[in-house]
Amino acid sequence: MSGDTITIFDTTLRDGEQSPGCSMTTDEKMEVAKALVELGVDVIEAGFPIASPGDFESVQKIARQFGSQTTICGLARCRVEDIERAAEALKDAENARLHVFLATSAIHREHKLKMSKDDIVERAVEMVKRAVDYIPDVEFSPEDAARTELDFLCEVTEKAIDAGATTVNIPDTVGYSTPSHYFNIITYLKNNVPNIDKAVISTHCHNDLGLAVANSLAAVEAGARQIECTINGLGERAGNASLEEVVMAIRTRRDHYKVDTRINTPKLFSTSRLVSRITGMTVQRNKAIVGRNAFAHEAGIHQHGMLQERSTYEIMRPEDVGYVGTNLVLGKHSGRHAFRDRVKELGFELEEKQLQKVFDEFIALADKKKDVYDSDIVALIDSHTAEASEQFRLDRFHTLAGTDVLPTATLEMRNVSTDEVFRDAATGDGPIDAIFKALERVVGIEAVLEDYQVRSVSTGKDAQGEVMVRITVGENVYHGNGVNTDIVAASAQAYLKALNRALADKS
Ligand SMILES: [Zn+2]
Repeated sequence: MSGDTITIFDTTLRDGEQSPGCSMTTDEKMEVAKALVELGVDVIEAGFPIASPGDFESVQKIARQFGSQTTICGLARCRVEDIERAAEALKDAENARLHVFLATSAIHREHKLKMSKDDIVERAVEMVKRAVDYIPDVEFSPEDAARTELDFLCEVTEKAIDAGATTVNIPDTVGYSTPSHYFNIITYLKNNVPNIDKAVISTHCHNDLGLAVANSLAAVEAGARQIECTINGLGERAGNASLEEVVMAIRTRRDHYKVDTRINTPKLFSTSRLVSRITGMTVQRNKAIVGRNAFAHEAGIHQHGMLQERSTYEIMRPEDVGYVGTNLVLGKHSGRHAFRDRVKELGFELEEKQLQKVFDEFIALADKKKDVYDSDIVALIDSHTAEASEQFRLDRFHTLAGTDVLPTATLEMRNVSTDEVFRDAATGDGPIDAIFKALERVVGIEAVLEDYQVRSVSTGKDAQGEVMVRITVGENVYHGNGVNTDIVAASAQAYLKALNRALADKS
């Protein structure tokens, strides 16, 4: 079985997007899809078309735009309406896949579906056949497979393949499995499903016990040839298997797994940043592969070893994953050309207009701050992702704060579509609270601040501060980020972005 290539099936836009507070607009999904194509994923699960008109629209747009470069997948329950809707959304993709699922475990059969085993098999077969009528590439998932009786799992799998499924995905929906348990399930299927060679076996592991990556890799050892995963391990509850971790484990330990992926690994870091920015889910500092500390060697003894021979303490090279450190790169006199090259080297593909905007900000930053690092440039680019939903812009503001004054913010804003200008002021517990209140007054939305984080982008007192906010408006959660050497300005940007998102959702 050596020399095989593992299909990387990314479900950031479907499973990842379903996690609380991670919902994305269509424009944001397009941006992520573009990054996934550049990363080289084999299948993009773009959404669940019947879930909402917004989901349908984004799957359709992604199918049209990227369906000739990679396979675009849509999810459907084993129901006629679901399948028709998904097929409709995928219609224009050159390479499309329909993913149908039906729960098979006793718990789900009895409590959720109230269906017998025979009912399940019958429904699965009927719906796989119907899906194949629309799109020949059909994936079938027996939901909660890891808790399904093995013989029944074999029966359903065999019948689904007979009905035309070309991929059978074995989900550990609730993150209950362990590596040897999951290995045994896949092995059992390989040994007991007579037509198993007619389909690709796939994994879909949740991380409730922190084992999603380990389980996925165990499945590969047992013969699975597709891994479903997400950028940064995003997903419901504790998330899914993290794409960057499974890919780098396979690559770094090729000696052991003897398989490959088609992933363009130097794009991992920038893709991780993009998804983190868009969803507002920060990546923990010590996260494997894409955490900020993943390649930091602080201990003296390590540094000493590293200076003599990198491989003493390094199993991967930072450049293999596109890691961005705090290299001093550019100064004020670097010019547009050098800037453009650096942006490219950092793994970003910017349109001319966007590049100009970021370059202008870079020059402004180089004026304010002595040293500009790679991480500063990345932060500037990040702050420009997915701006399409912007309705209000902050033109200028003034805050007053101190020990013997009433913290006050005054600001001037513009409605981008009407060009109408608004001026307002508010007081608060401090300058940031005051400016948040003033922003809410102009935008006309009352929000609850759920989370507020500030961190420094690089080092030094003149470093840029990056602010992330998470707000709730009614039932919905929105996030925003801002970057500036002045954290009041960064906070205002972040809060306004979140309010703009809420506004876009309302309209
Ligand atoms: Zn899932």
